[in-house]
Amino acid sequence: PLYQKAEYLKSVPTLDLCPEEIVYEVAFAGRSNAGKSSALNVITSQKSLARTSKTPGRTQLINFFPVDETRALVDLPGYGFAKVNINTKRAWEAGLSEYVEKREQLKGLILLMDCRIPPTEIDLQMLDWTAEIGLPVHVLLTKADKLKKGPAKAQLMQLKKMLKAEYPHASAQLFSSLKKDGLDQVWQQLDTWMEY
Ligand code: GDP
Repeated sequence: PLYQKAEYLKSVPTLDLCPEEIVYEVAFAGRSNAGKSSALNVITSQKSLARTSKTPGRTQLINFFPVDETRALVDLPGYGFAKVNINTKRAWEAGLSEYVEKREQLKGLILLMDCRIPPTEIDLQMLDWTAEIGLPVHVLLTKADKLKKGPAKAQLMQLKKMLKAEYPHASAQLFSSLKKDGLDQVWQQLDTWMEY
């Protein structure tokens, strides 16, 4: 499948340095520890693809993983920056917001949230912001294997209700990197956005 071919291309700080040859891309965002790297690895059937973007110096950059000549997965910096000073944080936010707002190739955002933790303020800000700019979002409620089926489903239903009421540009599903549950559904979403 397409996503297995993902290969690291480069990491950039700002929009003007993003690769021009890409036509369709989908970005992955979420707070640190939400399970973004694990999800990217499972989605691409690779053991350590996303480790590339976790190496020192790259954690705050926009990381490109093309899957073919015109399509790419993009790993955005995890939010939650206890160790980053305020100026660095502002510069990072400026670079990232410009990317999300102006990158025409960006067709959708996969937002990762731990299914056991209610959406944080920054998750909600992400939803507000994407709503404003009209960027579709698909939420992965990650680590679904950590809950029993009933409670996991209840979390999903609660989130879907909130999205329907307040963020109709967003959809959601359960996901487990450990069990590879929900993988077909993510692939389908990616295929749709990538026009594959
Ligand atoms: P990131 O910081 O968002 O990239 O998160 P990671 O992918 O590094 O995951 C953070 C922690 O959660 C690690 O200890 C992972 O092993 C664990 N984790 C990630 N996905 C899953 C999952 O689907 N199930 C379980 N049980 N643990 C997970």
